[in-house]
Amino acid sequence: MTDVPPLEAEIRRRIIAAGPMPVAQYMTLCLTHPKHGYYITRDPFGAKGDFVTAPEISQMFGELIGLWCAATWKAMGAPENVRLVELGPGRGTMMLDVLRAVQIVPDFRKALVVHMVEVSPTLEQRQRQALSQIDVPVEWHQTLEQVPVGPTIIIANEFIDALPIHQAVMCVDGWHERVIKIADNGSLQFGHARDPIPLFDQMLPRALRNAPIGAIFEWRADQIALEIGRRVVHSKGAALLIDYGHLESAAGDTFQAVGGQTFTSPLQAPGAVDLTAHVDFRALTHAAQSLGADVHGPVEQATFLRRLGIETRAEALKKGAPLEKTAEVNNALARLTSEDMTGMGKMFKVIAFSHPSLRELPGFADEPSESDGTAARAGKPG
Ligand code: SAH
Repeated sequence: MTDVPPLEAEIRRRIIAAGPMPVAQYMTLCLTHPKHGYYITRDPFGAKGDFVTAPEISQMFGELIGLWCAATWKAMGAPENVRLVELGPGRGTMMLDVLRAVQIVPDFRKALVVHMVEVSPTLEQRQRQALSQIDVPVEWHQTLEQVPVGPTIIIANEFIDALPIHQAVMCVDGWHERVIKIADNGSLQFGHARDPIPLFDQMLPRALRNAPIGAIFEWRADQIALEIGRRVVHSKGAALLIDYGHLESAAGDTFQAVGGQTFTSPLQAPGAVDLTAHVDFRALTHAAQSLGADVHGPVEQATFLRRLGIETRAEALKKGAPLEKTAEVNNALARLTSEDMTGMGKMFKVIAFSHPSLRELPGFADEPSESDGTAARAGKPG
């Protein structure tokens, strides 16, 4: 099999040597294998890439997140030094927009050290380029654990969905871990481990017990959510996570592959296509609360961005702008906030964790609060 790409060859070798491979291990290898992983070998974003993310659609997104950070810093008591951590920063676009927007809050900008948590050397290079003109100290790390402690604000867009999931399949004798095996015809195929996972049923939400045969349940190892919760509580800080997913833990297979902006099978072309799975916001909430963090939301992205003043910001960008620019802003606003299948407004959700002393965070109160107004007003210049 000389024409098998190197990552697929490695996956096959591992399956032959060690037996069928759990979905989580397969996803980890495909995305972040140190040599052949999807994020390690390429920059997948942008109009010509595999997918487009909110910060790549419009500067408005990162700017509003920046103003959220400034308001949150004030709610933290405006500490003299604060770490602004971004998890999985892609091309660095969001951080660039964040830092530009917070120029209108100079004390916050002065207090900042930026920490980028990025596993991919290729994307780290992109981020270094993007931020090369920035007059704020920026450091790179491969994991959140490596970021020094201290007052912290954490932000992440479409990061959790790229973290590996485990899957279990309901069989006659209980839940078995879902695995990838080599089928008789030589192709990679889903299967399930021989033995059931002991006591799995008891760890599931009540509604999922007695699930029908064939039902699939997915979960993520809690390490990252727990580390975010721990940091937020220890540093009297906050974290803002934006991602797509479901509000309640539920059965279902959301493991998906996207290449060249179309869906394909996750088992086709390992390492050459993006693999993601929906975020279980209920599980995130439990993880953060178990460490004593307060949880805000989740709220839909459209609601969140409107509360932060995206419409005001769009109007400001359109003022006196040429016709194409006006159309571009309208188009971006629609993509970020539209609640139908073509938009991100409803499918994407925003959740925040905070130290309990930060009572209310912009974008999460039912009625626009004073701090929401701050973000909207602060968004005007530019
Ligand atoms: N936030 C960006 C990119 C989202 S894609 C945007 O919205 O455009 C996911 C990002 O997370 C990429 O930068 C990827 O390299 C990074 N990543 C994936 N797994 C990671 C991990 N385990 N640790 C750190 N970064 C990771």
